[in-house]
Amino acid sequence: MPLSTALLPANTAQPFSVLVVEDQESVRAALVGELRNAGISQVLEARDGETALRFFTERRPDLVLLDICLPGKDGYWLAQQMRIAEPGDWTPIIFLSGLDNELDVWRGIEAGGDDYLTKPVKPIVLVAKLRAMRRLLDMRRRLVSLSDELHLANQRLNAMVEVDALTGLINRRGFDQRLHSEILAARRDRQPLTLMLCDLDHFKNYNDSLGHVRGDACLQQVARLLREVCMRPRDTATRYGGEEFALILPSTPRSGAMTFARALGQTLRNHAIAHPASPVAGVVTLSGGITTCVPDDATSAESMLMRADQALYAAKAQGRDRFFSFEMQMDTVEQRHG
Ligand code: GH3
Ligand code: MG
Ligand code: MG
Ligand code: MG
Repeated sequence: MPLSTALLPANTAQPFSVLVVEDQESVRAALVGELRNAGISQVLEARDGETALRFFTERRPDLVLLDICLPGKDGYWLAQQMRIAEPGDWTPIIFLSGLDNELDVWRGIEAGGDDYLTKPVKPIVLVAKLRAMRRLLDMRRRLVSLSDELHLANQRLNAMVEVDALTGLINRRGFDQRLHSEILAARRDRQPLTLMLCDLDHFKNYNDSLGHVRGDACLQQVARLLREVCMRPRDTATRYGGEEFALILPSTPRSGAMTFARALGQTLRNHAIAHPASPVAGVVTLSGGITTCVPDDATSAESMLMRADQALYAAKAQGRDRFFSFEMQMDTVEQRHG
């Protein structure tokens, strides 16, 4: 049968289903017969709007042939309901018009139809239109799947852009983003936010004595330990740059920050990464500058970073292998005088 090859090319393995909505028994039977002749095995039949809408939502046909005059709700109503039932999706709807009436066609297209056929339907015209619609449908599906892939690829790319290649930690770019959004969240929720800037002690010596390859491996190991210490889901360890790491600890008051710092120091000591050239200890140590605040309107990422950096400088100046926080210093002074 030449018509069957016309609708379903040999390479098309995908099944294609058509919903026929037609109340006249003879017309419906003729249509179904033609569809089967054209090689469409999955044909759904409905004689009224409600049944058709149920089939449409439950069975998701690939195409709808829709009579305009139906008992109860008419074809225009049904087309509208079908469009409402598939937001963001598109199933081709071809109206079947009894009269060759231009106004029918206009209303049909307005209601959400894509094309129309005049009854009695000529088989060759039916198959030609089905074929055209199928081509559009395939094209649309390819576009949708391409845009899904593109969306996924974009997400992956965005994630990659924020990851440091050496350590797998979030990089400076990701850090900037997260610090900014955590400041906003902490301000909104009136929660304390802690920022900790860590810098490996005498790391230039490490490279000079053991070589850059060992230096890189050391940075990777420290990154793993930092990640380990960040146990709460929103605690974030990032590589700020070089041998400097920044930790963002939401909902963490000064006392919590100190506990965290102790745990970090302990973890480093437990792993005792050898650093023979270190003037501080025989193992890799780090210094940390901590700042904790409940952000207000004046708080910015820059102001927090500056404060953490000054605290880091103080930790270095006091002999390294320690943490420093101006806010905790204030606590201690208050305790002493209070
Ligand atoms: P300080 O205790 O004052 O921090 O001394 P330091 O030697 O750690 O500080 P300095 O800023 O002088 O040197 C940092 C060194 O970190 C310089 C560089 O050799 C090393 N470094 C930075 N990034 C990398 C990296 O990606 N890989 C390796 N192997 N070394 C790095
Ligand atoms: Mg009818
Ligand atoms: Mg440094
Ligand atoms: Mg350093």
